[in-house]
Amino acid sequence: MDQQLLGALEAGGTKMVCATGYADGSIAACTEIPTTTPEETTAAIVAWFEDKGIAALGVGAFGPTAVDPASKHFGKILETPKTSWRYFDLLGNLAAPLNVPFGYDTDVNAACLGEATFGCARGLSSVVYLTIGTGVGAGVMVNGQLLHGMLHPEGGHVLVSRDPRDTIGEHSGCPYHDNCLEGLIAGPGVKKRWGGKRASELADDPEAMDLLAGYLAQALTTYTLCYSPKKIIIGGGVADHTPIVPLARKKAAELLNGYLVTPELEDIDTYIVNNSLDGEQGIKGCLALAHRALSA
Ligand code: ZN
Repeated sequence: MDQQLLGALEAGGTKMVCATGYADGSIAACTEIPTTTPEETTAAIVAWFEDKGIAALGVGAFGPTAVDPASKHFGKILETPKTSWRYFDLLGNLAAPLNVPFGYDTDVNAACLGEATFGCARGLSSVVYLTIGTGVGAGVMVNGQLLHGMLHPEGGHVLVSRDPRDTIGEHSGCPYHDNCLEGLIAGPGVKKRWGGKRASELADDPEAMDLLAGYLAQALTTYTLCYSPKKIIIGGGVADHTPIVPLARKKAAELLNGYLVTPELEDIDTYIVNNSLDGEQGIKGCLALAHRALSA
């Protein structure tokens, strides 16, 4: 069964990454489709997959999205700023024409599964995966299960204390919260604070990096205390192209202040880490979702 060709779709707000591959995480073919209207985009995805002969499809979707099969909105995109996608049945519009077993989860839960199956968290049962880019998203695995709950974790929007040095103004980059992690460290907040600059352009600015890393460290401390993960893995453009992960790791250790004593935290350099799969953690996680669907 492990030789069967699997389909993987990393469904993002700006692009759809489609791939075929195998249960060992190897990718056979891959393409990117721009995210435009829901109808045009899903038609292009179906057209790419339909002659590939995939045995199952794993979908990691941008959120918020309903991941509970018991929900009447299962497989739909929910309240997104991308208004044309609101309540669009993403999964239904792929599953019906492709007619294969499918797995469906958030993009960040898929990436978490990718790292736990093929990457630096292999063999670990409790893992947090964070992506920091145009937004901040958190995928969580607890005791081997991807965490859903009433919806799914939205760890990017945990509240943090404002640094008095911060010049962002009253409102952050998040339309919902003035003091959430995403609003203060993701792309829109960075651009608002630093005259349109991207985080990667500020990578050599120690004050900017110190500010961003301080906010990240507060959130990492919260995740450590609430989810008790055995590893925290961080991906996304802001994390990949700046030194905030090593800076935040040091600050998180200071914030924890010796309260938790575990072998993992004794070696914090291997506890809070950058992603290990060169940006392919999401699409490889979708392959793992497809494989799980086949075995279910
Ligand atoms: Zn927010």
